[in-house]
Amino acid sequence: MKSLPADDFTSRWRIGTVLLWLVLACLLPGMLGVAVLFSREYLDGRAQLERDMIARARAMVQSVDTQLFRAKTAGQALATSGVLARNDLAGFHRWGREVIATTKVGTNFVLSDESGQQLVNTLRECGEPLPRHGNPEILRRVFATGQPVISGIYIGGLLNKPIVSVELPVIVGGKVKYALSTGLLPGDFDTILTAQGFPPGWIAAIFDHTGTIAARTLAPEEFVGQKGTAEFIERFSESLEGSMKTVTLEGIPTLSVWSRSSLTGWTVGIGIPRDLLERDLMYTMTWLASGLATLLVVGLFLAWLAAQKIAGSVRALTDPAIALGKGELVAIPDVDIRESAEVAVAIRQAAELLAERTAALLAANRELEQLARVDTLTGLQNRNSANERLRLEFLRWKRSGNPYAVLFMDIDYFKEINDSCGHETGDQVLRHLAGVLKGSLRESDFVARYGGEEFLAIVSEPSAEGALTIAEIVRGAIAKESFPVVGQVTVSIGVAMALGMDKNEAEALRRADTALYQAKENGRNRVRSC
Ligand code: GH3
Ligand code: MG
Ligand code: MG
Repeated sequence: MKSLPADDFTSRWRIGTVLLWLVLACLLPGMLGVAVLFSREYLDGRAQLERDMIARARAMVQSVDTQLFRAKTAGQALATSGVLARNDLAGFHRWGREVIATTKVGTNFVLSDESGQQLVNTLRECGEPLPRHGNPEILRRVFATGQPVISGIYIGGLLNKPIVSVELPVIVGGKVKYALSTGLLPGDFDTILTAQGFPPGWIAAIFDHTGTIAARTLAPEEFVGQKGTAEFIERFSESLEGSMKTVTLEGIPTLSVWSRSSLTGWTVGIGIPRDLLERDLMYTMTWLASGLATLLVVGLFLAWLAAQKIAGSVRALTDPAIALGKGELVAIPDVDIRESAEVAVAIRQAAELLAERTAALLAANRELEQLARVDTLTGLQNRNSANERLRLEFLRWKRSGNPYAVLFMDIDYFKEINDSCGHETGDQVLRHLAGVLKGSLRESDFVARYGGEEFLAIVSEPSAEGALTIAEIVRGAIAKESFPVVGQVTVSIGVAMALGMDKNEAEALRRADTALYQAKENGRNRVRSC
């Protein structure tokens, strides 16, 4: 695992940063999904809107066709009646007015002869002077083909206004004698437009087969009779139905659809101003964007709150950890995060375990220290302990003037005991003698086994005589003692007082050793001092 310097925090992640990334990782895909869904929804909606508009245009163009065919049917009823065969122009005038009044299929009927002269016009009284037909070209076609023709928009001869007419041949005696026109004013198509109840701003128009505007929802007085835009006419000439982005005659950018009749060639166009569509889109997008932004802000804020809580709970573990290290009592902090509390409890348990183990170690150490000072054979203090005590006594004497004497003892002829009774018996003698030694000295005196069969005692004693007396008591006690197996055992003892001139503790010991040597020399089982 990578290890970093303990105080280098700059390259490490903060909990807050991690949580912020987490929130972003959770929210961003969702937000992206919402954006994709929204755009799909929008495009689907747009396609559906176009389909609906085309369906409405189709229904409208059928209404237009119906209007024209009704006009044609009404005209045919008149054309084939016997009135005209009898040359009864007055009867035709009367009946024509009746048909217009009852069917309301058009504005008027006009009867024209081959020269283009109007003979009867139901808008005028019978016999009044009349102008020529406003569309001589269409008349020629009727007389030439003997077939009905639906005109485009043209300026009517009498009204001098845009008009549409359905022209029918009136055949008398096998020849086309008259042309009967059923006139429709643009206003006759207005109901088809107004019946749709388009939303405000929408623009709908009805075009004749040449692309001339027959009716229009917006500014009809300005545009009826004019051609639609070349671009729109071109597109609806190519296909019966469709949609396109275009610009109206007055310059309004629109999304427009059209439906053209395959029977009459008339077309209905419906346009929605693009700024209306975009306004809707912008409105929805603004709501969507503010909703997503709010979601993001709320998410990040909650992550920040959570980070504060977690970071606080984690940092609260610092003090328990330091207390653990110091071996102090670990207080459990009041944290919000359960895991942190659990770690704090674990730290306290660790501290308790550590305290137990420290106590056990201290006890073991004390025991070891004790063992290191004790002679295992006799249970007396050992040589190390004796040297340490000698040093302590020397220092104390120097400091506070407590005089002391060193008694250095050696068993006489101990080798012989070993040789004659065995080493085990020798050990037994050493143990027994240790007991006698302790028993013959004061509780406060120090006794140690200094070597093989050598013993050392340190006694607080102000005078050499007193020290000699103590040594004599010890020697006598041992000499009087009856040892198992071997009976009597004696010791020689060298006694030395610590002196003012001594440089260190070894000097008194050395003198005691010298005195011991003299005691041996002088025949053993005796005390000598130096
Ligand atoms: P002296 O009177 O001159 O002291 O004669 P000695 O026989 O005591 O002579 P020395 O001090 O040289 O001999 C000591 C003997 O003590 C030698 C050794 O075998 C024996 N000894 C030393 N330590 C032990 C021990 O722990 N157990 C036993 N059984 N014998 C020991
Ligand atoms: Mg010896
Ligand atoms: Mg000896």
